[in-house]
Amino acid sequence: MYDILAQPMTRIAGVGAALEKRLLTRGIACMGDLLLHLPKDYVDDRHVSAIAHLQDGVSSRIIGRIISKQARGFGRNRQVMIRLADDSGQIALNFFHSGYMMSDARLSEGREISVRGVAEHWKGYLQMSHPEWCVTESFNPGFQPVYASLAGLGGKRIGNIIRQILSLMPANARSPLDALLQEQFHFPTLIEAFKRIHHPDELGRDGLVRAEARLKSEEIIIYLHLMRQKKKAAVCSAVCLNDEKQSSALHDSFPFPLTDAQNSAWSDISADLQSGSRMHRLLQGDVGAGKTWIAALAMARAAGSGAQAALLAPTEVLANQHAETLHELFSPLGIEVALLTGSTRAKARREMLARLQSGALQLIVGTHALLTEDVLFDHLALALVDEQHRFGVKQRWALAEKQNEGKKAVHLLGMTATPIPRSLALALYGDMDLSIMRGMPPGRKPVETRVIAAEKMKPMADGMQRILDADGRIYWIVPRIDEDEDGVSVDQRVELLKGYFPDANVIGLHGRMKGKDKNGALNAFSTGECKILVSTTVVEVGVNVPEARLIVIEQAEAYGLAQLHQLRGRVGRSSEQGYCMLVAGSEASEGSMARLKKMVNTHDGLELAEADLAIRGGGDAVGTRQHGEAGFRLLDMSEDAALIRQWHENLPDFTPTEAMQRFWRPFAESTD
Ligand code: ADP
Ligand code: MG
Repeated sequence: MYDILAQPMTRIAGVGAALEKRLLTRGIACMGDLLLHLPKDYVDDRHVSAIAHLQDGVSSRIIGRIISKQARGFGRNRQVMIRLADDSGQIALNFFHSGYMMSDARLSEGREISVRGVAEHWKGYLQMSHPEWCVTESFNPGFQPVYASLAGLGGKRIGNIIRQILSLMPANARSPLDALLQEQFHFPTLIEAFKRIHHPDELGRDGLVRAEARLKSEEIIIYLHLMRQKKKAAVCSAVCLNDEKQSSALHDSFPFPLTDAQNSAWSDISADLQSGSRMHRLLQGDVGAGKTWIAALAMARAAGSGAQAALLAPTEVLANQHAETLHELFSPLGIEVALLTGSTRAKARREMLARLQSGALQLIVGTHALLTEDVLFDHLALALVDEQHRFGVKQRWALAEKQNEGKKAVHLLGMTATPIPRSLALALYGDMDLSIMRGMPPGRKPVETRVIAAEKMKPMADGMQRILDADGRIYWIVPRIDEDEDGVSVDQRVELLKGYFPDANVIGLHGRMKGKDKNGALNAFSTGECKILVSTTVVEVGVNVPEARLIVIEQAEAYGLAQLHQLRGRVGRSSEQGYCMLVAGSEASEGSMARLKKMVNTHDGLELAEADLAIRGGGDAVGTRQHGEAGFRLLDMSEDAALIRQWHENLPDFTPTEAMQRFWRPFAESTD
């Protein structure tokens, strides 16, 4: 099974080298990867409605004969109107800017077509605007998967490619886990699960839930095994980092005293570093709790002891920011901090690597670029992984495995602001010690949070103006339409807001921009050259601009509470009052409004995560997907907690093959 999943995309008719390359930039390296691009929704196409029975505002499928076709207007912009009839009645189908349809033979009078759209009465006539259509012969009744577009391919095209991939998979292909999961838990085989999810024809929703659980079980079981394997391999003594001088010098140079929470986390870590056995600790602290200073203290300790330390960050933006913060903190002490990312020039990189390897360079910050094979240290003693949940187990450990010489084990400190409920943290990172920093540095006011309806966006402009007048800055988070279309909505908002606030120098930021341009945008925002930053959730991870006073989050109901809390944490980073506006989309259900309202009164990330777990924890097989969120391909911590815990408590005895591990390698959100 895994050998087939690993086959190159170019085996598919119509996928050439250029497309293969584009897919690769979206993390799709082989046929199986595309199978993990699960439908974002399903359309129930089991029933065909009679035209006479269509209801206003409801999306329906009809089949009918074309009785006339007319065009209005000129050229390509012409509006085309098709009258369609079945035994029960007639309907008008309107297509705007669709002049090309006039010459399409499949749409000539007398032909039968199958149409899906939302019917409405307009001036007494029944009509549909821009319905989807196909000739009746190519219509397959049943549940139809709907895919998010990807790498410039539309959802339809993706669906076709996935169908081809599935047809290449022999029904008797087996995963090494199939027998066990089938016998003991009556799960479908992996290939059956893929087929059901992508073509859920007869089985409907129940079949889908089982199939999704089957796929996710494959991922979680392999993950848990890998984690245990790593832990076993890592029992050896570590370098003692004893020299307190640098840390205390750094400590004394901080403009503020450490909070109690910071002090207690630092004493855990400091004890670990001196203990002579390897530190393997997760530092969990709310956004803005001040984890970076703790990381800095640990790095200073390493430098003072004559050892090396490296800090890994999930995005280039964040790596840059850390490098800058650390540079400011360390340069008065005469300690150099280097930065290595995908954008580092070849020559600078070569020199940097040479100095790392000789030990001349002690501290380095970087992105995944740090994990490349040729990055080697002379005596690495401490590996720090910021926002560690964004990395998979292998990546988290990869840095710690770059030790040289004496073969002493490297201390590993993970940091995360994702408030993972303790029970889940134990399942996911059972092998790590946990330091929890609760609370915030003094003087912070909780961010005032409001939930507003989409129609109220205009009055909000006044509030925004007040913030701008007081020299504050504003984040505006736009919904992600589809993975690779995130530029679209950003650009639209930038235009709109420029109209309202011509002097604010509105700038857009999204995941598809080049690293250099992203940094440019963030820099402009942090220096104040730009006052309003329109962005997708790229800013979620750790960005620190204390002057940001307001964050507006569109379509807030699409996010988990923990993620909203992360986003909210971008503001309220100074003694000024911060604000967060959660704009609910016009289609938000009452339930999701109630869920959003939790944000108004609750400012504790852990509490929110637990609430979310309780509300959404049941697992919604076909909800909005945000895969890759936690470094997983399919698992979503807020949806799959129960499944994760179940396998953690009852892990089958089994050794994942190399091919399995390779296939389920974590999906890294990095943009390098
Ligand atoms: P996070 O935990 O999200 O990584 P940061 O380390 O980015 O948080 O810190 C957020 C902000 O709080 C920074 O501007 C930092 O300078 C500030 N800060 C950190 N510790 C303290 C403290 N003890 N007192 C006051 N401000 C602090
Ligand atoms: Mg941080």
